Amino acid sequence: MIYLDNAATTKVFDCAVSAAVKSMTEGFFNPNATYKQAVATKRELENSRRAIADIIGVRDRELFFTSCATESNNWVFDSVKNRRGNIVISAGEHSSVYEPAMALKNKGADVRIVPLTDKGIVDETELERIVDGETTLVSIIHVSNETGTVNPIKHLSDIVKRKAPRALIHSDGVQGFIKTRTSVSALGVDMYSASAHKIGAPKGIGLLYVKDGKISPMLNGGGQENGKRSGTQNTPYIAAFAAAVKHYASFDFSRIKALRDKLAIYFSEHGCTVIGGENSGFILCVYVPGIKAEILQNAACERGVIVGKGSACSGSKRGNRVLSAMGMPQDKTECCIRLSLSVDTDDADAMKAAEILIDSANRIRSENV
Ligand code: PLP
Repeated sequence: MIYLDNAATTKVFDCAVSAAVKSMTEGFFNPNATYKQAVATKRELENSRRAIADIIGVRDRELFFTSCATESNNWVFDSVKNRRGNIVISAGEHSSVYEPAMALKNKGADVRIVPLTDKGIVDETELERIVDGETTLVSIIHVSNETGTVNPIKHLSDIVKRKAPRALIHSDGVQGFIKTRTSVSALGVDMYSASAHKIGAPKGIGLLYVKDGKISPMLNGGGQENGKRSGTQNTPYIAAFAAAVKHYASFDFSRIKALRDKLAIYFSEHGCTVIGGENSGFILCVYVPGIKAEILQNAACERGVIVGKGSACSGSKRGNRVLSAMGMPQDKTECCIRLSLSVDTDDADAMKAAEILIDSANRIRSENV
C-alpha cells in the first residue's frame, strides 16, 4: 500500500507508540494525585508540555491539552460567545471552525466571512474592509487542509490588530503545526489549535495555545489544565504527542517539499491542474479533468494507492465549500483529489502512486467513451 492521505491522519511513529505504552504500563498513575508515583507522572506530563512548547516557541503554561483540534476550535468560539461585537472567519476554514461560527450566527451573532482569492489565501483587502473596531474574534486557518496553501498569518494578524486592537486572533494550525517550522509566538496570534494525529501520534489528543493562558474554561470539574479544561489528562497520548513532535521536528522538510513539487509537475504534465498558492509542501490538490474524485480514489485504492478527496470535512454534501470559495465551479470541485505527504513518505512510492493515478484516470476515461 502507498498511503498518501496524511492530511487525514498519519501512521503512529514507533517512538510515539513506545512513549504511550511506557506511560500506560509504568507511569499510569493519576497525575493529579499526591503520592510520589503520581508526582512522577505529573512531572512526565509537564515535561511533555514543555517539550512541545519549546519546539513551537511558546510558554508551557500557554498550552492546554484537549481531545482533538475540533475541541480546541470549538473552545475558541465557546470562549467568545458572551462577548459583544462581530466575529470574522475566512471562507477557507475547516468545518470545526466553520460550524461553531455558524452555530453562533444561528443564535444571533454577527458572523462575517472573508472571501478567498483564487489561490486559496485570505483576500487581505476584504479582510481589511470587513474587520472593524467592533470585531471580537478573527479566525483564519494557517494551512488549508484542502490545498496546502499557507496563509500569511503574521501579516494578516497585523492588519487585524491595526483595525481592531481588542480583537482576539485565532488560527487553526492543524496542517501547519511543526510542518511550517514557524514559531507560534511569531505568528502574532492569541490562540492556535493543533492535533496530534496529523504528525505521527494517536488520534484523540490535541492542544490549544492561548497567549498568557487567559481563556474561559472549556470543562469544569477537578481543575486540571490550570482550571481551564478539567478531566484527568490523557497522559499516554500526551507522552506520545510530545515524542511525535520531537521526532517530526527533527526532519529536514526540504526533501518532502521537493517531492511535492515533483508530483505537482508530473500531474501538470499529464493534463491535470494543481490547485492553490504558496504551499506548505505537504499537500497537493489536483484537478483531474472529467473524473469524479471518488471514482478515481476507489480505482487507485484497488491498485494499492490511498489518496484523499478534499470534500470529506468540508461540510457540504456535494462539492467542496473551500474550493468553491476559490471560485471553482462545483462540477470541477468534485474532480479534485488530495495527495498528502508525511516525513516518512518515500519518493519512489509517491511517484509510482502518481503514475497509477494517471493510468487509472486514463482507464476510466477510455471505459466511459
Ligand atoms: N482543522 C483542520 C485544518 C484539519 O485538517 C482537521 C482534521 O482534518 C481538524 C481541524 C480537526 O482535527 P481533529 O481530527 O483533531 O479534530
